[in-house]
Amino acid sequence: MVSWESIDTVLLDMDGTLLDLRYDNILWTNLLPERHSQTHQLPLAHSESHLFAHMDETKGKLEFYCLDYWAEFTGLDVIELHHELKELIAYRPSAEQFLDWLRKHGKSSVLVTNAHRDSLNIKNEHADLIRRLDETVSCHDYGSPKEDQRFWQRLMDEHPFDPQRTLLIDDNHQVLVAAAEFGIAHLLTIAKPDSDKPHREGLDFPALHDFQDLLTHE
Ligand SMILES: [Mg+2]
Repeated sequence: MVSWESIDTVLLDMDGTLLDLRYDNILWTNLLPERHSQTHQLPLAHSESHLFAHMDETKGKLEFYCLDYWAEFTGLDVIELHHELKELIAYRPSAEQFLDWLRKHGKSSVLVTNAHRDSLNIKNEHADLIRRLDETVSCHDYGSPKEDQRFWQRLMDEHPFDPQRTLLIDDNHQVLVAAAEFGIAHLLTIAKPDSDKPHREGLDFPALHDFQDLLTHE
C-alpha cells in the first residue's frame, strides 16, 4: 500500500483517522441537538434542522471546526458536552501501534487536525495522543483549515517537508484534494472513519482499513 523507502514524513489527521469518528458524530448529531432542544425548549426536529443547516453552510470553513463559534451559536457549553462523552474517545484499529512503528522507523510524524485546541486537549487527556507524535498542528494555529492552500503553505514554512516524500492520511476528501493540489505525493483515506457506520464505497483515494496494513514486519 505504501513504499516506505520513499517516505520521510507522515502527516496524520485526528478525527476519523487516528481516532474513531463515532465520538464526534454522536456529539454533533445526537447530543448537541438534544441539549439544544432541552435548553431552548424547542422540538428536537426544529433544533436538528436549525443546527444541521448551519453545519452545512459552514462546512470546510474555520468556523465549522471552532468550538467558541458553536458555543456562541448554540448558547451551550460545548466543551462540557465533549467531556460528557469522553468514554467514547478511542483509537481506530492499530493506530497506536502505527504511531510507535513510525517512531521506531525514524519517520517524522505530524498531527494535522482541523480540530480546535480545546477538542484536541480533551482527546489527548483520554487517548494520550500528543506524546506519540513529533509535532501537533491545529489549523486554528494558522487561521486556515486544511481545505485551504494557505494551511499547507504555512505548514511547509513552520515544519518544512518534502511533498514528494510525504504521506498524508486523512478521512476528508476535500482535504486530500487540497493536499494533492499542494503537491503531496502519497495520499490515503480511511474506509471506515466511524466504527458504527458501514465501510465507505466509491472513494477517490486508496482507502486504509486497519493501520496494521501499513506496517512492515521484519
Ligand atoms: Mg478527519
